[in-house]
Amino acid sequence: MKHLTIVCAAALALLVAPGAGTSVVAKETIRIGTGGKTGVYFPTGGAICRLVNRGAKTHGIKCNVESTGGSVYNLKTIRGAGLDFGIAQSDWQYHSFKGTSRFKEDGPYDELRAVFSVHPEPFTVVARADSGIKTFDDLKGKRVNIGNSGSGQRATLDVVLAAKGWTLADFSETTELKSAEQSRALCENKVDAMIFTVGHPSGSVKQASTRCSTVLVDVSGPAIDKLIADNPYYRTAKIPGGMYKGTDGDTVTFGVGATLVTSAKVSEEVVYTVVKSVFDNLKRFKRLHPALKILVAEEMIKDGLSAPLHDGAKKFYKEQGWQ
Ligand code: GLU
Repeated sequence: MKHLTIVCAAALALLVAPGAGTSVVAKETIRIGTGGKTGVYFPTGGAICRLVNRGAKTHGIKCNVESTGGSVYNLKTIRGAGLDFGIAQSDWQYHSFKGTSRFKEDGPYDELRAVFSVHPEPFTVVARADSGIKTFDDLKGKRVNIGNSGSGQRATLDVVLAAKGWTLADFSETTELKSAEQSRALCENKVDAMIFTVGHPSGSVKQASTRCSTVLVDVSGPAIDKLIADNPYYRTAKIPGGMYKGTDGDTVTFGVGATLVTSAKVSEEVVYTVVKSVFDNLKRFKRLHPALKILVAEEMIKDGLSAPLHDGAKKFYKEQGWQ
């Protein structure tokens, strides 16, 4: 009995402590879906969580980052309530909301909500230097890692192939390795090229270009120009020369934007807290990964966002006088 009393007193003390002033007990844990560990989504999700968790004592919200299969997986899993937030390419955010393309079978996802956009993601093709691949067209008859199902690159590659009138059969062999596995396969000569829609610099491309001789490949021409002209979420993109060993000149391609999305079912308080944690500490956020260095608040709150803004995000942007 005496023991029980002590335990009860201790529990009571724990319960009372937050009310005494500075801290609150964690009331909610949120999960952000990202991508492979050597991509940019994973460290970006990590950076968001780090900033949220710094304030956990005050607002009571804890943030966990999850490595996942990528954009399409994140969008589907948020819809199934298996994730609260996710990072997704702007093209797949658009199609998920509208229920088009890859998301036709699922139908429109009316409750998808945009939060903010992050870094640009060029559609990136990395080839072994000894493969002779110089442009996208040279991929014909080659062994290509097309990406895991659920990844943004796997889905965007299908769009590129359709635009060019190609099919997967135009490659001699395809593998569906995850982004974290592909640079190794490239350097072990298991594939001639890998495809990754990713921010730069990225760990995966860095690994490939330092472990073996590789080149970045242009993805341009009339079919790509038409994709950019016809779709609001595509734009021209350039990977600056000198960023990776083996590629001194600029690489010309097209790209999308990485965006943070959530569901209308996630509370206004949670989304407001995430947004405030990032924008109140934007300088720090930009320092947490080199691909985030170029971010500008005014662009982050509108670029690449085709789903409606979540009310919690809108509230913060209005308070700042940004809307
Ligand atoms: N864009 C990729 C995807 O949607 C992920 C890129 C990354 O991991 O940084 O799957």
